[in-house]
Amino acid sequence: MPEVRDAAPVKVESLQSFLLANEEALATHLQNDEAWMQENLWNYQPRPQDLAFAATGNEKDVVMRFKRAIRINPEARLGLYAQLPPSYRLDNMVPITLKEVSVFNDLAHMNPDEFMRLQPGQTIAPLHVAVSANDEPDHGLDIGLFTDSGTAYGKEYGFGEQAFGNPNLEYGTQAPFHMAFYHESPVLYALGGFLKRTYPEMRIYQYQSLARFAFAQGHDYWGWRFMGLGLHYIGDFSNPYHVTPVPGNSTLSTLWVGLLNLLGLPDAQKEATQLVSNRHTVLEEFQSQLMTLQLQEGNHEHETLKSLAVEYPVNQYRHTDPVNLFSKVSADKADHVHHVLADTIPHAYVMDVNVEYTDLDATDELLDTVKLESGDAGFNQLTNTVSDLLADFSRHGSAYVQHILQAK
Ligand SMILES: [Zn+2]
Repeated sequence: MPEVRDAAPVKVESLQSFLLANEEALATHLQNDEAWMQENLWNYQPRPQDLAFAATGNEKDVVMRFKRAIRINPEARLGLYAQLPPSYRLDNMVPITLKEVSVFNDLAHMNPDEFMRLQPGQTIAPLHVAVSANDEPDHGLDIGLFTDSGTAYGKEYGFGEQAFGNPNLEYGTQAPFHMAFYHESPVLYALGGFLKRTYPEMRIYQYQSLARFAFAQGHDYWGWRFMGLGLHYIGDFSNPYHVTPVPGNSTLSTLWVGLLNLLGLPDAQKEATQLVSNRHTVLEEFQSQLMTLQLQEGNHEHETLKSLAVEYPVNQYRHTDPVNLFSKVSADKADHVHHVLADTIPHAYVMDVNVEYTDLDATDELLDTVKLESGDAGFNQLTNTVSDLLADFSRHGSAYVQHILQAK
C-alpha cells in the first residue's frame, strides 16, 4: 500500500515512554474500549475491575500495568526491534537476541539474522514497524492466559478454562486467541458451547483502537506497531484452519467426535485435534517455505507475492468484519483447502493420527516432498490455493489498515 510504503519515517519510542506520555488519556481510552467490547463483541469475558489501567505516574510498573489491563502475557517482550523479510538487510544492523523478542524455548523457526535491535530516537520506515509487529503476537503475547494454563496471571485474567488447543505444542495455549469458530451450525454450538470461547475478535478490536489512539496522540511509532499487532489476527483468519474446528468434516462427524468424548472415549477428540493441528501446521509451513524462497531469490513476480497486491478502492472497514466477513470467507473455503491438502501432501503428515508433524523435522524439505508426492500439477494446485487465501488477507488487511490511518 503506497500510503504505508511511502509514509515518512517515524521516531522509535519505548513502550514505557509512550505509556507515561499518555497515561491519563490512555486510562480513559481503555475504559471506553472495555465498555464497547462488553456491549459489542461476539463472546466477551469482561476484564476484572482490578486490572483496569489507572494513571498513577509510576514509571516502574507502567508497562506491567498496561500488559495486565489489556490482558496479554506479562512476560511478553514488546522490545524495540525490527523483523526483516528473508534476505533483506538494513545498513548498520545491530543484532538482538531472539530471547529478547520471543518468550519461547524452541526458537528454531526464527532466523536470528532477520532481527535487528532498534534504539529509542532512531528513525525507521513505518513499513518495517508494521510488518515486524505483524508477526509479534506469535512471539508469546497470548501464552498462558487461562485459569488452567498453570500461570498466576491466567487465574486473574477472567478468560476461564482453555476451550481447545494442541497440548503437544509449546504455543498451544494461544490457540483460542488466534482461532475462532463463528460459522458452525446451531446444533454444534449447542453441544460444544466451548467452541464460542475464543478471543481474536477482542485482540483485533483492542489493537486497532490502540493504533488509532497512538496516531491521534501523535505517537506514530506505536500507531504503526499496534496496527501490525492487530493485522496478525486478520492474517490468521485467512487460514481456514483458524476459523473452523475440523475442515473437511461435516457437522455430523464433528458432533460424533464430541459425543464419543462425552461418553468417556476421549481418544476420538484427541485424534481429531492431532489431525487438524498437523494440517494447520503443514499448510502454514508450505506457504512460509514457498514465500521465503521467492523472497530469497528476488522473485517478486511469484503468484504468492503478486496475490498480496492491494486492489483500490479499498473496502470500508467495519468492526463486524472480522466475524461476519473475514472469517466467513475463509470458513467457506475450508472443505476445498482440506481436499487439496489431502490430495497433495504425504499421508503421514495430514492423515495419520499417530503423527505429530512438528516431530518429523520435515519442513526444510517440504517443497521438494510435495513435488515428489504429487508432481508439478499437485504442487501448483497447492500454490494456487495458498495464493487465493493470501488475496483474501490482502483485501481484508488493507481495509483494516486504511481504517486506522483515518485517525492519523
Ligand atoms: Zn497467530
